[in-house]
Amino acid sequence: MNIRGIRKKTLRLLCQLGRDAHPNEFVALLTERDGLIDEVNLLPGTVAGEDSASILSDMMPLSTHLAGSCHSHPNGVLQPSDADIHFFPRNGRYHIIIGYPYTEQDWRCFTSDGRQCRMEVVS
Ligand SMILES: [Zn+2]
Repeated sequence: MNIRGIRKKTLRLLCQLGRDAHPNEFVALLTERDGLIDEVNLLPGTVAGEDSASILSDMMPLSTHLAGSCHSHPNGVLQPSDADIHFFPRNGRYHIIIGYPYTEQDWRCFTSDGRQCRMEVVS
């Protein structure tokens, strides 16, 4: 399934999760329906700190509708870390990083090789 975009309400939810978790990080899996990312699955046991993301991949529920992941960067840096680059390829094709202050502009999408890519927001 090709991913055409992310629903606006899903993006809003991700912003909210970022604000709620701040100053800690959250990690979630994103699933798609009909090519649109429309569901957020928070990973259990998420702990603070950038390195936590790599540990969590072992707990991943396998889903054919898995589109990718989203996690927050409380420091506001919208670039994948080394830990993120290891995490991405095992967890779907599209990876959103949302950073402080978590507005609807404070995010970027990356492919699993860590390159920035365009992600359409669909209402
Ligand atoms: Zn990160």
